[in-house]
Amino acid sequence: MAILLIHAGGTIGMVESDEGFSPAQGVVEDHVNQQVAEGLFPPMDIVRLDPLIDSANATPHDWHRIAITIAENMEAYDGFIVAHGTDTLAYTAAALTFALEGLAKPVILTGAMLPIGVEGSDGPENLAASVTHVQKAPAGVWVQFAGRHLHGSRVRKSHSRQFDAFAADPGEYPPLRSGPAFRLHQPRPWNIVILAVAPGMSDNVARYAAETCDGIVLRCYGSGTVPHSEGLEQALATAWQRGCPVFAVSQCPEGGLALGTYAAGAVLKKYNVIDGRDITLEAAYAKLVFILSQEANFDRQRQMLQTPLAGEMHTAS
Ligand code: ASP
Repeated sequence: MAILLIHAGGTIGMVESDEGFSPAQGVVEDHVNQQVAEGLFPPMDIVRLDPLIDSANATPHDWHRIAITIAENMEAYDGFIVAHGTDTLAYTAAALTFALEGLAKPVILTGAMLPIGVEGSDGPENLAASVTHVQKAPAGVWVQFAGRHLHGSRVRKSHSRQFDAFAADPGEYPPLRSGPAFRLHQPRPWNIVILAVAPGMSDNVARYAAETCDGIVLRCYGSGTVPHSEGLEQALATAWQRGCPVFAVSQCPEGGLALGTYAAGAVLKKYNVIDGRDITLEAAYAKLVFILSQEANFDRQRQMLQTPLAGEMHTAS
């Protein structure tokens, strides 16, 4: 089986610097080459993205750097492993499910909470498990972390310190965007913002976002309520008039939205806020980027946003 490992950056390959850990060339590469030389890993090729980044600095352009590397090597390899920083790994995993339409091979994202050169690092184990899984996983984008094999468009970083740092439910559909043939979707830069409601919050940012942004992910309470406020209502009205999609998600990590349950959420229906059901925040943001990049018509954008595309949401609440 031909395997390509793409080193994109992140703690797994970092070394100590004056300002703290930062990405370094060769750390992951040397470890993998050594494992191959000792017969512990099967032979594989390694591509290092330039520059390597702390995933805190990732943008949709960085998602595309990974996606295009996979696309350009699609014919030559049977499976792909991506070594990535953990902070935005869930965004990248979801983004890859939207970018790689017709994906027929496994793509495994992994990383580590401690650099691979540090005593007791989780990197060696995560890499070894990724190598095992890339040889048997079904087609799709998966995250391999701390012994867990997780759904790429449903995954979220759930712990900031423990090795077992990711969670995802299994999802209703596999983590891939099906299509008749392989096709790479390129994300373009948009003005998208994530807005969370909070008790007594200022409406200023919501109003400004509604007047200026291309898309908004709105983090509602629980099953889909928001505080009663004229400013927020005005913002939702403005977004609707401007054709700016407002994509609602829940602040609760489990369960998702059930819009229409409470009068306190009626304003969301009134201004046609799009029901994200149980989509994660990360997948909602990535999906908005890709749908805006692919489709200019507001009604079709709305339709695509509320329809499962790559297993990122359940069909019904
Ligand atoms: N800041 C690092 C990153 O996301 C954290 C990690 O990889 O664990 O690149």
